[in-house]
Amino acid sequence: MAILIQNGRVMDPASQTDRITDVLVTGGKIAAVAPGLFAPGAEVFDASGLVVAPGFIDMHVHLREPGFEHAETIESGSRAAAAGGFTSICCMPNTNPVNDSPTVTSYIVERARRLAAVNVFPIGAITKGSQGEELAAIGAMKAAGAVAISDDGRPVMNSRVMRRAMEFARSYGLPVIDHCEDLNLSAGGDMHEGLPSVRWGLHGIPSASEDVMVARDLVLAQLTGARFHVAHISTRNAVAMVAFARREGLTVTCEATPHHFALSDAQMLPYDSNYKMKPPLRSACDCAAVVEGIAAGTISAIATDHAPHAGSEKMQEFERCPFGIIGLETAVALALETLVHPGKISLNHMIELFTTGPDSVLRLGRGTLAPGAPGDVTILSTDLVWTYDVNRSLSRSSNSPFHGRTFRGGPVATIVNGQFTWRRA
Ligand SMILES: [Zn+2]
Repeated sequence: MAILIQNGRVMDPASQTDRITDVLVTGGKIAAVAPGLFAPGAEVFDASGLVVAPGFIDMHVHLREPGFEHAETIESGSRAAAAGGFTSICCMPNTNPVNDSPTVTSYIVERARRLAAVNVFPIGAITKGSQGEELAAIGAMKAAGAVAISDDGRPVMNSRVMRRAMEFARSYGLPVIDHCEDLNLSAGGDMHEGLPSVRWGLHGIPSASEDVMVARDLVLAQLTGARFHVAHISTRNAVAMVAFARREGLTVTCEATPHHFALSDAQMLPYDSNYKMKPPLRSACDCAAVVEGIAAGTISAIATDHAPHAGSEKMQEFERCPFGIIGLETAVALALETLVHPGKISLNHMIELFTTGPDSVLRLGRGTLAPGAPGDVTILSTDLVWTYDVNRSLSRSSNSPFHGRTFRGGPVATIVNGQFTWRRA
């Protein structure tokens, strides 16, 4: 089955394309990008007034399978991804069992092949059980399909272990993704340490808990030559340190989440668990630094850190409920609203943050509309007005602070490996 996408504004940063033209997808691949294409028998999609981009990649998603299927599954999470305009997602290893062995990696790859609506690339654990002590089977996980290693959610506190992990990752050609948090500094904290936390009588997580670990990891990345990627960067100091390391020539990258560039701690609803995540929503000054870091190119990927939790878990008092919010279905709209519409970055730059940015870290060979590339296409509108209703989310969970919010712009259709997997109703 072929798909002919006609008259869209085709924007492919990888090939520096930005013009009104057609895209033909056949046999699961991009066949041609040219005006006036003719393809007998192809399904025609009229993209007039819409933007046609390479399939978006979300390099930081929690799919909860195996082990926590009440909150999300590979199938449900991938459907939410498609509805968010994503065609490829990477799933973090903090499942049960932890993805620290080729058995679990293969299980995820196989389940995804049969059930997922988008491409799913597993990220293997750094240490066994993500306990931070013994290295996981990094080479075997890579052979089974892992595209990176991370102990996301349970940072590797032991610097010697992290050094070894970087050395191994380097020899296997894998990036190391770290959730940078000094657990001793953040212990007991529920939100960012600042005026709002004091006002509401909640224990704070200082920016220093992130800064200290980013600094350590940058030193270790320099020592080992590893490709190192900071997950969900959220502080002004961390952005500055990554910028410095990049200027020094280190192969260091970082990602930001939509909630960290769109919200600060001052915008939280007090004691609302849908505003509780790690790293926490930071100060307005940190939030502005994330936006500046994106505009300056220090932050080269937008990733959601989609973290589903069942209602029963999130509907507890603030101090008891788990960290994390869902984010797949609102990411593109938040990027348009916070970054593109106010003129902080161009639309082309936003597309880079969802395509070539993550692809250059993960080396998936995706994120472009070049003929011969996988047939992954994200079609979006920059001015469609729509309202996010979390009760209609395709995720199994509904822990989002953006419920009821009206957006201008968002995904319209998602094509994965040459087939429509989602269209806005
Ligand atoms: Zn994390």
